[in-house]
Amino acid sequence: MAKKQFKAESKRLLDLMVNSIYTHKEIFLRELISNASDAEDKLAYKSLTDENVDIKRKDLKITIVPDKEGRLLTVSDNGIGMSKEDLESNLGTIARSGSGQFKANLSEDDKAADKIDVIGQFGVGFYSAFMVADHVTVISKAWDSDEAWVWQSDGADGYTVTQCEKDAPGTDVIMHLKADEDGENYSKYLETYELQELIKKYSDYIRYPIVMEVEDYRQKEKPADAGDDYKPEWETVKEWKTINSMVPLWQRQKSKVKPEEYNAFYKEKFGDWQDPLAVIHTSAEGAVTYKAMLYIPAQTPYDFYTREYQKGLQLYSSGVMIMDKCADLLPDCFRFVKGVVDSPDFSLNISREILQHDRQLKVIATALEKKIKSELVKMQKDDREKYEKFWKAFGTQIKYGVVADYGAKKELLQDLLLFWSSKENAYTTLAAYKDRMPEDQPYYYYACGQSVDKIAKLPQVERILDKGYEILYCTEDVDDFVMKALAEVDGKKFKSVADEDALPQTDEEKKAAAEKAEAGKGVLEAVKEALGDQVKEVRISSILKSGACCLSADGPVSLEMERYMNKLEGGEHMKAERVLELNPDAAPFAALKRAVDAGDKDTVAKYAKVLYGQALLLADLPLEDPAEFAQLVSSLMV
Ligand code: ADP
Ligand code: MG
Repeated sequence: MAKKQFKAESKRLLDLMVNSIYTHKEIFLRELISNASDAEDKLAYKSLTDENVDIKRKDLKITIVPDKEGRLLTVSDNGIGMSKEDLESNLGTIARSGSGQFKANLSEDDKAADKIDVIGQFGVGFYSAFMVADHVTVISKAWDSDEAWVWQSDGADGYTVTQCEKDAPGTDVIMHLKADEDGENYSKYLETYELQELIKKYSDYIRYPIVMEVEDYRQKEKPADAGDDYKPEWETVKEWKTINSMVPLWQRQKSKVKPEEYNAFYKEKFGDWQDPLAVIHTSAEGAVTYKAMLYIPAQTPYDFYTREYQKGLQLYSSGVMIMDKCADLLPDCFRFVKGVVDSPDFSLNISREILQHDRQLKVIATALEKKIKSELVKMQKDDREKYEKFWKAFGTQIKYGVVADYGAKKELLQDLLLFWSSKENAYTTLAAYKDRMPEDQPYYYYACGQSVDKIAKLPQVERILDKGYEILYCTEDVDDFVMKALAEVDGKKFKSVADEDALPQTDEEKKAAAEKAEAGKGVLEAVKEALGDQVKEVRISSILKSGACCLSADGPVSLEMERYMNKLEGGEHMKAERVLELNPDAAPFAALKRAVDAGDKDTVAKYAKVLYGQALLLADLPLEDPAEFAQLVSSLMV
């Protein structure tokens, strides 16, 4: 029979796995046991909803059998099983979507680091069997089928699938271990003691019994007719034993769980290779009873901001996994959180559909939302460095959360926000900013731009800083929306430094400004005439100090919004109504005035265009005609 080829990428990946992950070969057992446990889970779930499933939860188990003579190690389960198609698609293709990322990660400095957990993340767990075996046989019978199939492979050069006999549904994974060579010891995986250790180490909380025949050396029972001179006799007995303790981590007492255990669970279950930033282990009793174990990852998942990413918590009901990603348990703003929720309150015969609208879910979700928030606030206070790491990974998501649904969650999230402070030259919370505010400061000030350095040099920023006021430097597209959504926090409003009324004017200042505007009227009209429809208005600026000009927007659409919306794929093209602001105290204005007074329309037009071009550049907006602009500047030099 012809061998089918693994997909090209699979071959490369398999090669990588087998040849580059030397230090942690032992994890193959964990991977196979996890797969077996998943298979049991799937069948247990089926049994809740399908009366054709004739199995009791207590009969589900995972069996490990070493065979020293044959050099074989078998991991069996009586779970859901695989059909021929399942075998081909699940074991014939490796990590379709994640493989690119897998490679990317391997090529970076992770190479040196502990990479055992990279395996799980990309759904390549099964192939870890080839790290220790030169031949793998998978015999499987799907729970709803009469046919059984056998999948066989020597590794990289493909696999075969043929029909075979098998009594009960489930799967046997039979590994023929490699020969001990080059200092590698594979034979140890045939030793009961070693296997027991590995099961304890990696799979203790697996919720199905992992059974193995173990040898026990013990005293023989004293015969009833034994005399006074009876000497105890010893014997070796073999018996089947459950190796794992089976108590899920989240069911255990918080004080009894070690940080390493929390972290190991997280990494294995959610396929991350980094420890999480925080663990929230919590429970409630009363109106609803549940236990939850939530994790805040240290790094943005590579697909986090794509449609592929699915939020949700794993939902268990009395130990049976009901749903892998229950979205209703997590608000969108905290969609990065991973974890499990176990509650006996969901009756066991409910269908997925009913569950999704369960009132209990809402109650739990609300409680968890509060927990997550307070954990983050705690981190912010107790371990700022860690919090900034969190912020780097998920800050943008929190900001989206503020803006979403017309600011419905802004009260919840505002304490979590960080912005770059002009004064601290570091991230600040809004509360800390408010604490530093001078008495007379009317607003929280913010300025938007492409980078902190660029913003710091914006002409509009100068006069606010000169007042001794602090500015939040906003470099993300969403920031302007965030400030508008927040509107007011703790009694103070937000104000863009680009707003004309950013600094309240005294009556005297107002009068002086009006006089300047009157005096400059001729110039403004001439410039507007030269620029035509490119700008809605030309006005005397009240927001500039030494800069000659800047661009601002009239109406509801700000320049930041224009930039943001135009970047969105398929977003509507918005255009802010542009206003060119000129500084009457700067030298270029005087030059303009001279040209206007001399009736030199040509020069006025040139100057106007140069100033408008500058204003566009300062606002990080494209010039409409860069060539013309370049020519203009050159012509002014000769
Ligand atoms: P992952 O477990 O991350 O999905 P694996 O490479 O470990 O990736 O397994 C691939 C797939 O093969 C599983 O998702 C599952 O569909 C199937 N599979 C593996 N082992 C078993 C098993 N013992 N019983 C049923 N299906 C299995
Ligand atoms: Mg797996």
